[in-house]
Amino acid sequence: MTDCIFCKIVNHEIPSYKVYEDDNVYAFLDITQATKGHTLLIPKKHVTDIFEYDGDLAATVFACVPKVARALEKAFPEMEGLNIINNNKEMAYQSVFHSHIHLIPRYGKSDDFS
Ligand code: 5GP
Ligand code: ZN
Repeated sequence: MTDCIFCKIVNHEIPSYKVYEDDNVYAFLDITQATKGHTLLIPKKHVTDIFEYDGDLAATVFACVPKVARALEKAFPEMEGLNIINNNKEMAYQSVFHSHIHLIPRYGKSDDFS
């Protein structure tokens, strides 16, 4: 989709810091780091939200969540936990309408994300 920021990121028209990539998904640091290592995992194919997934795409994308989690654990060994969040539609705080999964590392009670 031509006007989608995340499609532009997948196509390298907008720079991003890559965390993980395969043929079907791309994971990159969120521009706003809720905590250090806050990452977004997206399907390379443009889908707006979870309601547009079929079973195959869901299996492909969600199978990558543990892979990205392990990449984060390796990069940030001091990480003590991880929140996984997926917002769908404006009412649920989705602001970029190319489906994405947030992976937000946690570093103990003193981190600044709640
Ligand atoms: P949502 O609110 O839709 O669940 O999350 C969208 C996320 O995309 C936000 O956390 C926001 O910081 C991130 N974001 C928006 N534009 C860009 C961008 O151009 N680059 C990166 N890396 N993240 C972005
Ligand atoms: Zn897109």
